[in-house]
Amino acid sequence: MVQGIANWNTGETQEWLQQYVDDWVAFYRKHTNDGNVASYIPILAEADPDDLGITIIGNNGLSVRSGDTEIPFTLQSISKAITFIVACMERGVSYMLDNVDVEPTGEAFNSIMHLEMKPVKKPLNPFNNAGAITVTSTLPGDTSEERLEPVFQLLEKILGYRPSLNVDVYESERESSNRNRAIGYYLLEVGFLDSDLNATLETYFKQCSINVTLDDLARIGLILANDGMDPKNGEEMMPRQVARLTKVLMLTCGMYDASGKFATYVGIPAKSGVSGGILAAVPPRVRDETMPFTDGCGIGVYGPALGDKGNSIAGTRLLRHIATQWDLSIF
Ligand code: GLN
Repeated sequence: MVQGIANWNTGETQEWLQQYVDDWVAFYRKHTNDGNVASYIPILAEADPDDLGITIIGNNGLSVRSGDTEIPFTLQSISKAITFIVACMERGVSYMLDNVDVEPTGEAFNSIMHLEMKPVKKPLNPFNNAGAITVTSTLPGDTSEERLEPVFQLLEKILGYRPSLNVDVYESERESSNRNRAIGYYLLEVGFLDSDLNATLETYFKQCSINVTLDDLARIGLILANDGMDPKNGEEMMPRQVARLTKVLMLTCGMYDASGKFATYVGIPAKSGVSGGILAAVPPRVRDETMPFTDGCGIGVYGPALGDKGNSIAGTRLLRHIATQWDLSIF
Protein backbone atom coordinates (compact mmCIF):
# COMPACT_ATOMS: atom_id res chain seq x y z
CA MET A 1 0.00 0.00 0.00
CA VAL A 2 1.37 3.41 -0.88
CA GLN A 3 1.55 5.58 2.21
CA GLY A 4 1.78 9.30 2.76
CA ILE A 5 0.48 10.68 -0.50
CA ALA A 6 -2.78 12.19 0.64
CA ASN A 7 -1.48 15.62 -0.38
CA TRP A 8 0.33 14.37 -3.39
CA ASN A 9 -0.06 17.63 -5.29
CA THR A 10 2.38 19.32 -2.95
CA GLY A 11 6.06 19.53 -3.84
CA GLU A 12 6.89 17.36 -0.87
CA THR A 13 4.75 14.53 -2.14
CA GLN A 14 6.16 14.86 -5.62
CA GLU A 15 9.59 14.25 -4.10
CA TRP A 16 8.21 11.21 -2.35
CA LEU A 17 6.71 9.89 -5.57
CA GLN A 18 9.97 10.49 -7.40
CA GLN A 19 11.89 8.56 -4.77
CA TYR A 20 9.38 5.73 -4.95
CA VAL A 21 9.64 5.38 -8.74
CA ASP A 22 13.44 5.76 -8.65
CA ASP A 23 13.69 2.91 -6.15
CA TRP A 24 11.57 0.57 -8.25
CA VAL A 25 13.36 1.43 -11.49
CA ALA A 26 16.63 0.54 -9.72
CA PHE A 27 15.07 -2.70 -8.49
CA TYR A 28 13.65 -3.78 -11.85
CA ARG A 29 16.77 -2.78 -13.77
CA LYS A 30 18.26 -6.07 -12.54
CA HIS A 31 15.42 -7.88 -14.31
CA THR A 32 16.77 -6.72 -17.67
CA ASN A 33 19.16 -9.68 -17.31
CA ASP A 34 16.20 -12.01 -17.86
CA GLY A 35 15.64 -10.74 -21.39
CA ASN A 36 17.43 -10.08 -24.66
CA VAL A 37 17.40 -7.21 -27.12
CA ALA A 38 15.74 -7.92 -30.47
CA SER A 39 18.27 -9.00 -33.05
CA TYR A 40 16.17 -10.06 -36.05
CA ILE A 41 16.36 -6.41 -37.09
CA PRO A 42 20.17 -6.17 -36.80
CA ILE A 43 20.43 -2.54 -35.70
CA LEU A 44 18.08 -3.09 -32.75
CA ALA A 45 20.72 -5.41 -31.28
CA GLU A 46 22.89 -2.32 -30.68
CA ALA A 47 20.57 -1.12 -27.88
CA ASP A 48 21.94 -1.31 -24.33
CA PRO A 49 20.09 -4.21 -22.64
CA ASP A 50 20.52 -2.62 -19.19
CA ASP A 51 18.50 0.47 -20.05
CA LEU A 52 15.23 1.00 -18.23
CA GLY A 53 13.17 4.17 -17.92
CA ILE A 54 9.66 5.40 -17.28
CA THR A 55 7.77 8.65 -17.78
CA ILE A 56 4.34 9.25 -16.29
CA ILE A 57 2.36 12.35 -17.21
CA GLY A 58 -0.78 12.94 -15.17
CA ASN A 59 -3.99 14.66 -16.15
CA ASN A 60 -3.36 17.31 -13.53
CA GLY A 61 0.04 18.13 -15.01
CA LEU A 62 2.06 16.17 -12.44
CA SER A 63 4.79 14.13 -14.10
CA VAL A 64 7.39 11.68 -12.90
CA ARG A 65 10.45 10.64 -14.90
CA SER A 66 12.92 8.01 -13.80
CA GLY A 67 15.80 5.98 -15.20
CA ASP A 68 16.88 6.20 -18.83
CA THR A 69 14.30 8.69 -20.04
CA GLU A 70 16.43 10.60 -22.54
CA ILE A 71 17.27 7.78 -24.96
CA PRO A 72 15.40 8.01 -28.27
CA PHE A 73 14.09 4.74 -29.69
CA THR A 74 11.88 3.74 -32.60
CA LEU A 75 8.16 3.10 -32.37
CA GLN A 76 8.26 -0.38 -33.95
CA SER A 77 4.91 -2.05 -33.21
CA ILE A 78 3.68 0.93 -31.21
CA SER A 79 3.29 2.56 -34.64
CA LYS A 80 0.50 0.04 -35.33
CA ALA A 81 -1.71 1.89 -32.87
CA ILE A 82 -0.89 5.24 -34.48
CA THR A 83 -1.50 4.11 -38.05
CA PHE A 84 -4.74 2.43 -36.99
CA ILE A 85 -5.92 5.73 -35.47
CA VAL A 86 -4.90 7.65 -38.59
CA ALA A 87 -6.52 5.09 -40.92
CA CYS A 88 -9.77 5.32 -38.91
CA MET A 89 -9.62 9.11 -39.20
CA GLU A 90 -8.87 9.01 -42.93
CA ARG A 91 -11.09 6.11 -44.01
CA GLY A 92 -13.72 5.88 -41.27
CA VAL A 93 -14.11 3.32 -38.49
CA SER A 94 -16.60 1.10 -40.31
CA TYR A 95 -14.34 0.86 -43.35
CA MET A 96 -11.44 -0.17 -41.15
CA LEU A 97 -13.53 -2.76 -39.31
CA ASP A 98 -14.53 -4.19 -42.69
CA ASN A 99 -10.84 -4.62 -43.49
CA VAL A 100 -9.46 -5.89 -40.22
CA ASP A 101 -11.03 -7.86 -37.38
CA VAL A 102 -10.78 -7.23 -33.63
CA GLU A 103 -9.85 -10.70 -32.34
CA PRO A 104 -6.67 -11.61 -30.45
CA THR A 105 -4.70 -14.30 -32.25
CA GLY A 106 -2.87 -15.96 -29.36
CA GLU A 107 -0.01 -16.27 -31.84
CA ALA A 108 3.32 -14.44 -32.17
CA PHE A 109 3.13 -10.94 -33.62
CA ASN A 110 4.73 -12.04 -36.88
CA SER A 111 2.69 -15.21 -37.35
CA ILE A 112 1.45 -16.12 -40.80
CA MET A 113 0.07 -19.45 -39.67
CA HIS A 114 -3.02 -18.05 -37.96
CA LEU A 115 -4.24 -16.69 -41.29
CA GLU A 116 -4.24 -20.13 -42.84
CA MET A 117 -5.38 -22.22 -39.88
CA LYS A 118 -9.04 -21.37 -40.25
CA PRO A 119 -10.85 -19.50 -42.99
CA VAL A 120 -10.71 -15.81 -42.17
CA LYS A 121 -12.24 -12.99 -44.19
CA LYS A 122 -9.72 -10.44 -42.95
CA PRO A 123 -6.64 -10.29 -40.72
CA LEU A 124 -7.57 -10.95 -37.11
CA ASN A 125 -6.52 -7.64 -35.56
CA PRO A 126 -4.62 -4.46 -36.46
CA PHE A 127 -1.78 -5.05 -33.98
CA ASN A 128 -0.15 -8.17 -35.34
CA ASN A 129 2.02 -7.74 -38.41
CA ALA A 130 -0.54 -9.15 -40.87
CA GLY A 131 -3.26 -6.83 -39.61
CA ALA A 132 -0.93 -3.85 -39.29
CA ILE A 133 0.36 -4.25 -42.85
CA THR A 134 -3.28 -4.42 -43.99
CA VAL A 135 -4.08 -1.24 -42.05
CA THR A 136 -1.08 0.47 -43.63
CA SER A 137 -2.37 -0.55 -47.06
CA THR A 138 -5.52 1.52 -46.42
CA LEU A 139 -3.61 4.78 -45.87
CA PRO A 140 -4.35 7.10 -48.79
CA GLY A 141 -1.51 8.08 -51.14
CA ASP A 142 0.80 6.50 -53.69
CA THR A 143 4.21 6.83 -52.08
CA SER A 144 5.30 6.01 -48.53
CA GLU A 145 5.89 9.74 -47.96
CA GLU A 146 2.32 10.58 -48.94
CA ARG A 147 0.91 7.76 -46.83
CA LEU A 148 2.92 8.72 -43.77
CA GLU A 149 2.14 12.42 -43.97
CA PRO A 150 -1.10 12.19 -41.88
CA VAL A 151 0.75 9.94 -39.42
CA PHE A 152 3.45 12.58 -38.94
CA GLN A 153 0.79 15.29 -38.79
CA LEU A 154 -1.09 13.56 -35.98
CA LEU A 155 2.13 12.95 -34.06
CA GLU A 156 3.15 16.58 -34.53
CA LYS A 157 -0.23 17.77 -33.27
CA ILE A 158 0.00 15.59 -30.16
CA LEU A 159 3.70 16.04 -29.41
CA GLY A 160 4.19 19.64 -30.45
CA TYR A 161 7.06 18.73 -32.78
CA ARG A 162 7.50 16.56 -35.85
CA PRO A 163 9.37 13.37 -34.97
CA SER A 164 12.15 12.19 -37.28
CA LEU A 165 12.54 9.00 -39.26
CA ASN A 166 15.45 6.85 -38.13
CA VAL A 167 16.91 6.04 -41.54
CA ASP A 168 19.40 3.49 -40.16
CA VAL A 169 16.63 1.51 -38.47
CA TYR A 170 14.45 1.77 -41.57
CA GLU A 171 17.25 0.43 -43.78
CA SER A 172 18.11 -2.33 -41.31
CA GLU A 173 14.47 -3.45 -41.13
CA ARG A 174 14.07 -3.21 -44.89
CA GLU A 175 17.14 -5.36 -45.47
CA SER A 176 15.99 -8.04 -43.05
CA SER A 177 12.35 -8.07 -44.02
CA ASN A 178 11.85 -11.54 -45.49
CA ARG A 179 9.19 -12.50 -43.00
CA ASN A 180 7.20 -9.28 -43.37
CA ARG A 181 7.47 -9.60 -47.15
CA ALA A 182 6.18 -13.17 -46.86
CA ILE A 183 3.23 -11.92 -44.80
CA GLY A 184 2.69 -9.16 -47.38
CA TYR A 185 2.66 -11.61 -50.29
CA TYR A 186 0.25 -13.84 -48.43
CA LEU A 187 -2.06 -10.87 -47.82
CA LEU A 188 -1.80 -9.99 -51.49
CA GLU A 189 -2.59 -13.55 -52.52
CA VAL A 190 -5.76 -13.73 -50.43
CA GLY A 191 -6.89 -10.26 -51.45
CA PHE A 192 -6.63 -8.54 -48.06
CA LEU A 193 -4.46 -5.63 -49.20
CA ASP A 194 -6.13 -2.38 -50.14
CA SER A 195 -3.28 -1.07 -52.29
CA ASP A 196 0.13 -1.76 -53.80
CA LEU A 197 2.24 -4.22 -51.78
CA ASN A 198 5.62 -2.54 -52.20
CA ALA A 199 4.42 0.93 -51.26
CA THR A 200 2.60 -0.63 -48.30
CA LEU A 201 5.70 -2.43 -47.05
CA GLU A 202 7.89 0.66 -47.48
CA THR A 203 5.35 2.64 -45.45
CA TYR A 204 5.23 -0.09 -42.81
CA PHE A 205 9.04 -0.22 -42.42
CA LYS A 206 9.15 3.56 -42.11
CA GLN A 207 6.29 3.85 -39.59
CA CYS A 208 8.15 1.34 -37.38
CA SER A 209 11.30 3.49 -37.66
CA ILE A 210 9.92 6.78 -36.33
CA ASN A 211 12.02 8.09 -33.42
CA VAL A 212 10.31 8.86 -30.14
CA THR A 213 11.16 9.44 -26.49
CA LEU A 214 9.47 8.33 -23.30
CA ASP A 215 7.85 11.73 -22.92
CA ASP A 216 6.30 11.26 -26.36
CA LEU A 217 4.82 7.88 -25.43
CA ALA A 218 3.46 9.23 -22.14
CA ARG A 219 1.89 12.15 -23.98
CA ILE A 220 0.20 9.89 -26.56
CA GLY A 221 -0.98 7.68 -23.68
CA LEU A 222 -2.42 10.71 -21.92
CA ILE A 223 -4.44 11.67 -25.00
CA LEU A 224 -5.79 8.11 -25.29
CA ALA A 225 -6.55 8.04 -21.56
CA ASN A 226 -8.74 11.10 -22.18
CA ASP A 227 -10.60 9.51 -25.10
CA GLY A 228 -8.71 11.59 -27.65
CA MET A 229 -8.79 14.95 -25.89
CA ASP A 230 -5.82 16.98 -24.70
CA PRO A 231 -6.53 17.58 -20.99
CA LYS A 232 -4.45 20.77 -21.06
CA ASN A 233 -6.75 22.72 -23.36
CA GLY A 234 -9.68 20.45 -24.22
CA GLU A 235 -8.59 20.18 -27.86
CA GLU A 236 -9.70 17.03 -29.71
CA MET A 237 -6.69 15.20 -31.14
CA MET A 238 -8.70 12.28 -32.48
CA PRO A 239 -12.38 11.32 -32.37
CA ARG A 240 -13.55 9.78 -29.13
CA GLN A 241 -14.82 6.65 -30.89
CA VAL A 242 -11.40 6.07 -32.46
CA ALA A 243 -9.54 6.56 -29.17
CA ARG A 244 -11.87 4.17 -27.37
CA LEU A 245 -11.66 1.49 -30.05
CA THR A 246 -7.86 1.78 -30.04
CA LYS A 247 -7.80 1.27 -26.27
CA VAL A 248 -9.97 -1.84 -26.56
CA LEU A 249 -7.52 -3.24 -29.10
CA MET A 250 -4.54 -2.26 -26.95
CA LEU A 251 -6.04 -4.15 -24.04
CA THR A 252 -6.98 -7.26 -26.02
CA CYS A 253 -4.13 -7.40 -28.57
CA GLY A 254 -1.54 -4.75 -27.64
CA MET A 255 1.03 -7.02 -25.98
CA TYR A 256 0.96 -9.73 -28.67
CA ASP A 257 0.38 -13.22 -27.29
CA ALA A 258 0.96 -11.98 -23.75
CA SER A 259 -2.08 -9.68 -23.93
CA GLY A 260 -4.26 -11.85 -21.70
CA LYS A 261 -1.64 -11.99 -18.96
CA PHE A 262 -0.96 -8.28 -19.25
CA ALA A 263 -4.69 -7.48 -18.99
CA THR A 264 -4.96 -9.77 -15.98
CA TYR A 265 -1.91 -8.62 -14.02
CA VAL A 266 -1.55 -5.00 -15.15
CA GLY A 267 -5.02 -4.18 -16.45
CA ILE A 268 -4.10 -1.13 -18.52
CA PRO A 269 -4.53 -0.62 -22.29
CA ALA A 270 -0.95 -0.76 -23.63
CA LYS A 271 0.98 -1.26 -26.85
CA SER A 272 4.53 -2.56 -26.99
CA GLY A 273 7.23 -2.60 -29.64
CA VAL A 274 10.36 -4.71 -30.14
CA SER A 275 12.55 -1.67 -29.57
CA GLY A 276 11.51 -2.08 -25.92
CA GLY A 277 8.94 0.71 -25.69
CA ILE A 278 5.52 0.41 -24.07
CA LEU A 279 2.79 3.00 -24.48
CA ALA A 280 0.12 2.85 -21.76
CA ALA A 281 -3.08 4.81 -21.20
CA VAL A 282 -4.59 4.99 -17.71
CA PRO A 283 -8.09 6.50 -17.78
CA PRO A 284 -9.46 8.41 -14.80
CA ARG A 285 -11.01 6.05 -12.27
CA VAL A 286 -13.05 6.22 -9.11
CA ARG A 287 -10.78 4.82 -6.42
CA ASP A 288 -9.14 5.53 -3.15
CA GLU A 289 -8.23 9.19 -3.48
CA THR A 290 -4.95 8.77 -1.68
CA MET A 291 -3.61 6.95 -4.75
CA PRO A 292 -1.59 8.95 -7.25
CA PHE A 293 -2.96 9.64 -10.73
CA THR A 294 -6.58 8.70 -9.98
CA ASP A 295 -7.60 11.28 -12.58
CA GLY A 296 -5.69 9.44 -15.29
CA CYS A 297 -2.23 9.50 -16.83
CA GLY A 298 -0.20 8.46 -19.82
CA ILE A 299 2.82 6.22 -19.29
CA GLY A 300 5.85 5.52 -21.45
CA VAL A 301 8.25 2.71 -20.55
CA TYR A 302 11.53 1.83 -22.26
CA GLY A 303 13.62 -1.29 -21.67
CA PRO A 304 15.06 -2.95 -24.78
CA ALA A 305 15.72 -6.34 -23.16
CA LEU A 306 12.67 -8.35 -24.24
CA GLY A 307 10.95 -11.44 -22.88
CA ASP A 308 10.04 -14.39 -25.07
CA LYS A 309 6.88 -12.72 -26.44
CA GLY A 310 8.77 -9.63 -27.58
CA ASN A 311 7.74 -7.26 -24.79
CA SER A 312 10.16 -5.33 -22.57
CA ILE A 313 10.78 -7.72 -19.72
CA ALA A 314 11.80 -5.30 -16.98
CA GLY A 315 9.43 -2.65 -18.35
CA THR A 316 6.45 -4.99 -18.09
CA ARG A 317 7.38 -5.98 -14.54
CA LEU A 318 7.91 -2.35 -13.52
CA LEU A 319 4.54 -1.44 -14.98
CA ARG A 320 2.89 -4.36 -13.23
CA HIS A 321 4.40 -3.31 -9.93
CA ILE A 322 3.33 0.31 -10.21
CA ALA A 323 -0.13 -0.58 -11.53
CA THR A 324 -0.67 -2.93 -8.61
CA GLN A 325 0.63 -0.54 -5.97
CA TRP A 326 -1.30 2.44 -7.30
CA ASP A 327 -4.39 0.48 -8.32
CA LEU A 328 -4.16 1.69 -11.91
CA SER A 329 -6.10 -1.23 -13.42
CA ILE A 330 -9.20 -0.27 -15.35
CA PHE A 331 -11.06 -3.23 -13.83
N1 GLN B 1 9.13 -3.64 -37.22
C1 GLN B 1 8.84 -4.81 -36.45
C2 GLN B 1 8.42 -5.96 -37.35
O1 GLN B 1 7.64 -5.80 -38.22
C3 GLN B 1 7.76 -4.49 -35.50
C4 GLN B 1 7.39 -5.68 -34.65
C5 GLN B 1 7.22 -5.39 -33.23
O2 GLN B 1 7.58 -4.34 -32.70
N2 GLN B 1 6.73 -6.38 -32.56
O3 GLN B 1 8.86 -7.05 -37.20
